[in-house]
Amino acid sequence: MMSWFRNRRLRRARPDRQAFAAVVADFPALARLNRTQRERLFERTTEILADKDFQGAGGLELSADDVLVVAVMAALPVLDLGVNCYRGFHTFIIYPAEFQADFEEVDEDGVVHRGRDLRAGEAWAWGPVVLGLDEVMASGRGQGYNVVVHELAHQIDQLNGDMDGFPPLHSGMDAQRWADVFNRSYERLCQELEDGLEPSLDPYAAESPAEFFAVASEFHFDVPEWLAEHHPELHEQLRCFYHPER
Ligand SMILES: [Zn+2]
Repeated sequence: MMSWFRNRRLRRARPDRQAFAAVVADFPALARLNRTQRERLFERTTEILADKDFQGAGGLELSADDVLVVAVMAALPVLDLGVNCYRGFHTFIIYPAEFQADFEEVDEDGVVHRGRDLRAGEAWAWGPVVLGLDEVMASGRGQGYNVVVHELAHQIDQLNGDMDGFPPLHSGMDAQRWADVFNRSYERLCQELEDGLEPSLDPYAAESPAEFFAVASEFHFDVPEWLAEHHPELHEQLRCFYHPER
């Protein structure tokens, strides 16, 4: 139900048209959208600005322009899916650049490793999305890199349980086909790395099926033609998933 209260929130959140157009023009991943898609991107951006909190961290005083860039970029993965896919989190935490994060990992022998490392972004299970602003600005440049899409792909992935590279598929999509295509592509990348060949995707995708889905999503939104040419099956599955109507 679209309540009066929600309508008022949306009206207040609506960004300035010129500022929105400037962001779109600045990023090739956004500038390629057609008129109808841009209008939809504007709606999604407005919804994200109305629904989410944006907090600066690490001494960053977030400007309205910074918030707008994050919101517009965040609108891209849910352009055709709808912002309901972001129901698992409420807050964007933005650092000035890459940030230190504590990690804890269990290796194959069951040994727990703890430490700190530098991250461009981070998505917590049912928690905030953390981003480095410099990394956001380097995203969507047609290089197959988009930290915002990456972290939000993790958020979408976990809607049906774990972050495991298997998001909630739409009715009409074949789960077995999805699993086959992703397994094949994942194994291909792992094999390329093992053989010392030029990897066909960012090697970080070989970390886990969850990272593979997140990285493949970055390629889908940043270099779709390249992905269609080099990973046609993967491209097709991602197209069906992110654009159910197209
Ligand atoms: Zn990741």
